[in-house]
Amino acid sequence: MLTQVADGVLVHQSDFMQTNAVVVEGRAGALLVDPGVRGDEMTCLANDLRELGRPVAVGFSTHPHWDHLLWHADLGTAPRYGTARCAATVRERLSDPGAKARVAGMIPPDIVEQVPLDRLGDITGLPADTEQILWDGPEVRIIEHQAHAPGHASLVIEERGVLVAGDMLSDVLIPFLDLSGAADPIEDHLAALRLLEGVAGDVDVVIPGHGSVGGADQVQARIEQDRAYLHALHDADVPSDPRLSTPFGKDWLPGVHERQASISKGSDPLFHRGARPTR
Ligand SMILES: [Zn+2]
Repeated sequence: MLTQVADGVLVHQSDFMQTNAVVVEGRAGALLVDPGVRGDEMTCLANDLRELGRPVAVGFSTHPHWDHLLWHADLGTAPRYGTARCAATVRERLSDPGAKARVAGMIPPDIVEQVPLDRLGDITGLPADTEQILWDGPEVRIIEHQAHAPGHASLVIEERGVLVAGDMLSDVLIPFLDLSGAADPIEDHLAALRLLEGVAGDVDVVIPGHGSVGGADQVQARIEQDRAYLHALHDADVPSDPRLSTPFGKDWLPGVHERQASISKGSDPLFHRGARPTR
């Protein structure tokens, strides 16, 4: 089920929201970014990695939303990391005894039984301002920014020409702002796009957390598409964003957009608790 998208970089796509797990091959093991959603898919991924002779050496979660924090026993016991801010947010949101039941309530009922929550969010924060993941494989640069979720990180594997975008630069989802308390989430998101634009010249493949993998022409095109959406949101214009009318998103993305348009400044904690899907 693994698809190679660049030399030594493979993707495993879930049926759930086109969620992409990313495998980067190292010398003896693999870096696994955002492992996936359903238990059987993670088992399948673990088997594929075993066949490749590259068990998971290190795991990484791009941001503190449930669909990026999962793990399965079959993937082994490698250390799992996120940015310091991501890990601190996970601790804050998941440390109380009712946390897993609350997360289960955010997961669509048709798949919740298939999502293993026992290792949810067991990540260690890398020291603040860590610039790369230290492991026995190609250099992986961490581009941390404040968009979509606290401590969100995209990863650049320059040797392979790959940008692992996390929940940025999707071809199927509009930008989801971090409405968990930032003073100006639109500007934060625009600032993150500028950071990604700064590395766009180093890569020719972009892997979003949800959606399809894009080639060289897509990196800048998706940055511009997201920027246009954010400018429209900021100016209270009606965005002519094709993602709002795709078969994939037309039922619920307009609702997310309406919400973002009505509370584009300030915080609304309900956004993260009640909206479906919460990401
Ligand atoms: Zn996500």
